[in-house]
Amino acid sequence: MTTFRFEVLKETLNRKPVEVSETVKRSEMFGCNVFSEKAMRQYLTKEAYNGVLSAIKVGAKIDRKIADQVASLMKEWAMSKGVTHYTHWFQPLTGGTAEKHDSFFEPIGEGMAIEKFGGSELVQQEPDASSFPNGGIRNTFEARGYTAWDPTSPAFILGTTLCIPTIFVSYTGEALDNKTPLLRALQAVDKHATAVAKYFDKNVTKVNASLGWEQEYFLIDKALASARPDIVMTGRTLLGHAPAKGQQLDDHYFGSIPGRALNFMRELEQECMKLGIPVKTRHNEVAPNQFELAPIYEEANLAVDHNSLLMDLMGKVASKHNFKVLLHEKPFAGINGSGKHNNWSLSTDTGVNLLSPGRTPMRNLQFLTFFINTIKALKEYEELMRAGIASASNDHRLGANEAPPAILSIFIGAQLTEVLKELEEVTNGKLSPEEKTDLKLNVVGKIPEILLDNTDRNRTSPFAFTGNKFEFRAVGSLANCAIPMTVLNSVVAKQLKDFKIEVDALIEEKDLKKDEAIFNVLREYIKDSKHILFEGNGYSAEWEIEAAKRGLSNNKTTPVALKADVAPKTIALYEELEVMNKVEIEARHEIKLEEYTMRIQIEARVLGDIALNHVVPTALNYQNVLIENVSGLKEVFEEEFRTIAKDQMDLIRKISVHTSAISQNVHEMIEERKKANILDNAEETAMAYCDKVKPYFDIIRYHCDKLELMVDDEMWPLVKYREMLFTR
Ligand code: ADP
Ligand code: MG
Repeated sequence: MTTFRFEVLKETLNRKPVEVSETVKRSEMFGCNVFSEKAMRQYLTKEAYNGVLSAIKVGAKIDRKIADQVASLMKEWAMSKGVTHYTHWFQPLTGGTAEKHDSFFEPIGEGMAIEKFGGSELVQQEPDASSFPNGGIRNTFEARGYTAWDPTSPAFILGTTLCIPTIFVSYTGEALDNKTPLLRALQAVDKHATAVAKYFDKNVTKVNASLGWEQEYFLIDKALASARPDIVMTGRTLLGHAPAKGQQLDDHYFGSIPGRALNFMRELEQECMKLGIPVKTRHNEVAPNQFELAPIYEEANLAVDHNSLLMDLMGKVASKHNFKVLLHEKPFAGINGSGKHNNWSLSTDTGVNLLSPGRTPMRNLQFLTFFINTIKALKEYEELMRAGIASASNDHRLGANEAPPAILSIFIGAQLTEVLKELEEVTNGKLSPEEKTDLKLNVVGKIPEILLDNTDRNRTSPFAFTGNKFEFRAVGSLANCAIPMTVLNSVVAKQLKDFKIEVDALIEEKDLKKDEAIFNVLREYIKDSKHILFEGNGYSAEWEIEAAKRGLSNNKTTPVALKADVAPKTIALYEELEVMNKVEIEARHEIKLEEYTMRIQIEARVLGDIALNHVVPTALNYQNVLIENVSGLKEVFEEEFRTIAKDQMDLIRKISVHTSAISQNVHEMIEERKKANILDNAEETAMAYCDKVKPYFDIIRYHCDKLELMVDDEMWPLVKYREMLFTR
């Protein structure tokens, strides 16, 4: 066993960066494997092109004849690039992506065959996907689910397969995936944001949500990772002593990127370019061997697809470069974890970012309207936002002194805090001409066009305004962005809907002018939402106490946080906006709970196995070496040996203390698992795994890590932290 660790270490030390050629300009590569507008214009007839375009732009239905044309020409385009298969590409509730490849090849009798891809294959498929989680939906209603083309996200080529982004729904229409609710939430926010944007500009007919994610990850040598059963099975280390040098020196952050990692990034970026993922930024992160990749922001649905695709690509490219990518939120204890900031904004089809201040008081009033409504939306649904980022792995990060806490607060910066204070003083009802002028000149008029520099200082906030967008920082690195984006866009849609009703009522019933009515409603929102605004250190212990006083939730674990997903207020919200119905909401809740349980269960099994079958036997072997040494000393020195062998004898004793503690705790943990497994609903089981099983992890780990420090390095079977983190 020991030799295995040293063998992989040797393999690692001999690695050279894998060569990557860069002969084609990135700009030329961009989108070459995407059936983009450019490719469509080249391949499609005018009729087909217009059909797809109006499906993309205004959600028009595509008729059968057009679908046939599009499919056939899409196939022609794909075949010109060596494609042989196609697949409906979808995002089942496992959080990942799924594909099932079919060949274009079709026999036509008499030993002949053609390549065929018709409209019906493009538009709808029935994958035999019965083992994806569905929370009982398909059992209760219909056994089958089908995938349906989402023309708003363009088809692309992966390898020799044409991938068609699709939604995945049951025959009775319930969503079985993460994309369907997202699309519905985006429709809702479009509808209600457009209605509000029309107060300021009648020409607005559509509002798009934008998303720019920042993906953090670790790169570990493939051989080292494969020698750690915990990384292989759970994506994180379940034990391992902290290295002498961690990230204290901060010498990795923004430092020069190590050669092997850089070549991995270059190849990954090239693959992204071909798929039209506009990656732009790469750098080292805080922890050793931790990195970040960020694209230019895009329309939210496309950005979500691109992030899912990226996570998939990362694994493939990493393998070529002898790396394993760790997307887990907390792969190493005591070392910073990884997140995925979701930068979000709303923009109109007239080209205006609704969360960006402007040059005129009117533009700024529009900005304040969307800004304050977003704050109010979060205040109303803070627990739902927390639920939207809940997962077993993200629980390690939220509130771990390095990542935003599980408390959802909003940071807006000193300047905007001032502005809100002044707006709170706006007169109730009609405003005098003096007050209007004052607001125009001194409050709204004073908001600078560019806020960027003074708003991006606080990195401890889970939800921060950063100049022209909000940045949701508590999202986990492993998350499918569709989930937090569905929540955020839904709550903002609902808020804007209510806002419009209130403003219109003041205009009609109280005879207020439009801007007076807007000021009046915003004033009340500010008063009502103030307690969610927090400018201080979100990582501090004082904030937890203060937040509790303010009545903010602090749902530290996933099973508790997920309760908000099925709260009556949530069901009402989603049903009102037609994002999800009660059946879909409850099914998802159950799936998330089951997933939580499964993850903790797997970790518990793996930890028990490593502790009992790797750590304890190694420690006992070493103890035997010590015992032999002590008996030898006794023979040689007789009386004196007690002094001479004192350290060894202490160590023998300590090793026994730790090995028996490990055995006892592993067995107790197994008993708790047995009890949890027979509970009769998903929530109770998840709670039991969280409160009864998981606490053993730290105890078992503590004893294993102590043994790691005692046992002869040559005998230790598991690759150590310093080896994983500092081998490049
Ligand atoms: P950070 O300082 O957090 O690294 P950056 O300025 O690098 O932030 O931007 C991070 C992400 O925010 C990028 O993906 C960028 O494209 C995105 N972004 C910039 N402007 C917007 C916007 N208006 N809406 C959504 N995302 C945006
Ligand atoms: Mg950021």
